[in-house]
Amino acid sequence: MKILTVVGARPQFIKASVVSREFGMHPSVTEKIIHTGQHYDDNMSELFFTQMDIPKPYVNLGVNQVNPAMMVGKIMEGVEQQILIENPHALIVYGDTNSTLGAALAAVKQNIKLIHIEAGLRSFNMKMPEELNRVITDRISNMLFCPTQIAMDNLREEGYDGFSSDYFLSGDVMLDATLYYKERALAEETSLGNLLDSDFILCTIHRAENTENDQNLTNIIAAINSMAKEMNVICPLHPRTKQRINGLGLKTEFTIVEPVGYFEMIRLLDKCKLVVTDSGGLQKESYFHNKMCVCLREETEWKELEEDGLVIVAGTNPDDILESVKEALIASPEFGKNFYGTGMASKFIVNEILKSI
Ligand code: UDP
Repeated sequence: MKILTVVGARPQFIKASVVSREFGMHPSVTEKIIHTGQHYDDNMSELFFTQMDIPKPYVNLGVNQVNPAMMVGKIMEGVEQQILIENPHALIVYGDTNSTLGAALAAVKQNIKLIHIEAGLRSFNMKMPEELNRVITDRISNMLFCPTQIAMDNLREEGYDGFSSDYFLSGDVMLDATLYYKERALAEETSLGNLLDSDFILCTIHRAENTENDQNLTNIIAAINSMAKEMNVICPLHPRTKQRINGLGLKTEFTIVEPVGYFEMIRLLDKCKLVVTDSGGLQKESYFHNKMCVCLREETEWKELEEDGLVIVAGTNPDDILESVKEALIASPEFGKNFYGTGMASKFIVNEILKSI
């Protein structure tokens, strides 16, 4: 059986790492990985493949730094070419990026079975590029693997019981990755020196709704500057955010570092007092590491965490962010629920795929 997997962005490398390892246990399966090129900096791409032992992509489409429609179009074209050459039994996409959507459209146009991992998530905000990508990808997929019960409920409510696709509750492959890599990551020497020795808040900002909106970005940076007066804030800064901060001439009074590899991120998550982020993945990883999270968006896809008070959705108003940070730092929540499964999601997914082809 031949599978094509398409990845392009950092969170997809992490998700694919555990599923690819699982495919590796089945000699009857040949998995070939296409890298779209969406993330291309070494520390946001190459580092993940080497550190996490992900099989090297056999082709890199080199699609980056272009507007969204051109990106989706070029990825569609590149993936279609590879489908015609490789003639796979199925094609796998992850998450909600332009790489996800471009590859999904190419597969369906060529009548290739489409498998979406991390399906069913909804923010219900169609202005988010990620929401558009995931809603369309879900609708055209043949097999949909949902990380949570809420994602399953979303699909049911959208009428998926009446569609010809199959959807499954698999658990979350990012939990598999945390459990698999944590011990190794914590045993390694940190590249951040003594920055981790004193109390700190871990912060990331990269979502277009914040980086491409001057007011939102200005507000967030003002709030982080204030937070940093009370406790150090370490921010591995996405290149896009860095460019926008410089472009707007915003003053930063916290600790900025380059984007870190996954192992360093695990160490940061393990040692921090709190996570403040607009990332989808990090909200969940905060939970995996028993840390509270303040979300710099107006809504979250991880409703179960919000409902249990583990993610506080603060938005981008500086006073609301500071209030939420204060609240989160004194909270003593329960982290014990298995919202995301038990670390067996990749095994489940591969078994279901093998049964279906
Ligand atoms: N991540 C990382 N290094 C960083 C920032 C993020 O390894 O400097 C990891 C993070 O732990 C998570 C994933 O990248 O697993 C999340 O990616 P990102 O925040 O870019 O995207 P999102 O989850 O919002 O789609």
